[in-house]
Amino acid sequence: MSKRDYYEVLGVAKNASEEEIKKAYRKLAMKHHPDRNQHDTSKDAEDKFKECKEAYEMLSDAPKRAAYDQHGHAGVDPNMRGGPGTEGFGGFAEAFGDIFGDMFNQGGRGRGQGGRQVYRGSDLSYAMEVTLEEAARGKDAQIRIPSWEACDTCHGSGAKVGTSAKTCTTCAGAGTVQMRQGFFSVQQTCPHCRGTGKIIPEPCPSCSGQGKVKKQKTLEVKIPSGIDDGMRIRSTGNGEPGTNGGPPGDLYIEIRLKKHDIFERDGDDLHCQVPVSFITAALGGEIEVPTLAGKAAIDIPEGTQAGKQFRLRGKGIKGVRASYPGDLYCHIAVETPVKLTEHQRKLLRELEESLKKGGGRHSPSGESWTDKLKSFFS
Ligand SMILES: [Zn+2]
Ligand SMILES: [Zn+2]
Repeated sequence: MSKRDYYEVLGVAKNASEEEIKKAYRKLAMKHHPDRNQHDTSKDAEDKFKECKEAYEMLSDAPKRAAYDQHGHAGVDPNMRGGPGTEGFGGFAEAFGDIFGDMFNQGGRGRGQGGRQVYRGSDLSYAMEVTLEEAARGKDAQIRIPSWEACDTCHGSGAKVGTSAKTCTTCAGAGTVQMRQGFFSVQQTCPHCRGTGKIIPEPCPSCSGQGKVKKQKTLEVKIPSGIDDGMRIRSTGNGEPGTNGGPPGDLYIEIRLKKHDIFERDGDDLHCQVPVSFITAALGGEIEVPTLAGKAAIDIPEGTQAGKQFRLRGKGIKGVRASYPGDLYCHIAVETPVKLTEHQRKLLRELEESLKKGGGRHSPSGESWTDKLKSFFS
């Protein structure tokens, strides 16, 4: 796979200043961040985000940028850095802070005891469906998530009972090996023991040598009021456990808003269709409309047309970070009567005759409509 030029990815000149690079990255990260691309389910948005994150990481680091300027992609290899835990969107959180606060501060790898590589555990995600009412009011929920416990059979060693783990011969237990890559000699995770420094000749059958088994646990989650579709709540430390004593990953609870029978949500505003008889639409009058808090009444004027909106200020949803609630828009859907009796048909025909006598007067779109038709057919 050929890689795009980092400067091209960020859309900056070769001699761009640090500040320009940072600005360009922020703009692109905002645009491509997965939290902002909920409706783009393709891998594309995520790939774009990763691409610009990588470009930024390289160009914002002076020594890496110098190596890249001199040798191109061969001079810097992003795969050299970070463990599995850095796969998340830490870069974005570092640059902008997460929706619900706390930063990724434990990403990447460090050194554990005995010099072995420690890896932060992977993040997990959990999809939670909430109704519009729950989203508006917030809710306390309980979810069942996977958790890992030390295997009872081998007590966490991963070795079959009666046997034990042996020191890895490839790395002599260090968990890392020196590799030449491009122009540098770099330290890499030992491919043989995958950084653990140990080889288990006879794995424990209960846990397949993992030393841990997957169980379930119940977690209490507070869903804040105003939460919207696609938002994520982070539960720190409830992801997969780390390797070699590394910190666990985080759990992300992704909110999916269930479709509502009456209301459609658009940010903090709500929309609903209100059927109104054509008689009421013509004569005007008080109609009843639903709101999340109960019923409300609005007065519609004489001659209200189909599709007309009436706004109920503050009857929408108060967003997670909003100071004021949004509005409720009631869209008038004028209903045509059905299943008419012979008598009712007669009345309507009489009404039609009477309206015709008024010329175009009774038809608000009549004249402009006739004009449009004329120019369309001429
Ligand atoms: Zn076991
Ligand atoms: Zn090894």
